Amino acid sequence: MTVVKKIYELQQLDLEIQEEREALEEVERQLGESEALVRARSGLGAEKEHLAETSKRQRDAEWEIEEISSKLSQMSSKLYGGTVKNPKELVGMEQDVGLLKAGLRQKEDTILDIMADVESTQKKIKDDTEHFRILEADWRKGQEILSVRQTVIKSRLADLERSREELTSDIPADNLELYKMTRVRKGQAVVKIEQGRCQGCRITLSTSELQRARAGNIILCSTCGRILYLG
Ligand SMILES: [Zn+2]
Repeated sequence: MTVVKKIYELQQLDLEIQEEREALEEVERQLGESEALVRARSGLGAEKEHLAETSKRQRDAEWEIEEISSKLSQMSSKLYGGTVKNPKELVGMEQDVGLLKAGLRQKEDTILDIMADVESTQKKIKDDTEHFRILEADWRKGQEILSVRQTVIKSRLADLERSREELTSDIPADNLELYKMTRVRKGQAVVKIEQGRCQGCRITLSTSELQRARAGNIILCSTCGRILYLG
């Protein structure tokens, strides 16, 4: 194999290595928790917190209602029991009973609102938990695929790098340096000659350039400066 062919193959290898590295970066970027999953989990956490809070408010309100009710029944039995005879005291007691009844009604309205809130939050938690489970299962499946892909790419990269090492050990240092420098300057360092033209800049090459290329010499295109390879 001529040195120029080796350099051409080195370029192919470098392109493949670059592609694999980019693919690996992309895979690694996607590994880990997804934003949607994090958002869904924190939303669910907030809903559960809200449920705990409203459930506590419901229990408090129930307790208050119980307290008002027992006070009311005590007062009612006193009021209608016939033990209190003083009219002024009776009027005062009637007013107190009226106030307690109004307070009770208000508490009952409040508790209805709280119960509706608890119920809708419970439903939301149920739905969102389901949604979260689906999201998480999809994510887990995706992660497994990504992880397999990561392993495959890594092993492919290791193979490519091994081949690269073997190939470069077989190319003279100054030629290797020329390839590296041309690559830095031009991106694509080695270009094929097709139908007598440099494929880098499309210029028609001279007969002597073609002859030297045919002999397997390393020659550069006099126009674009790339390494010419007659495949
Ligand atoms: Zn050229």
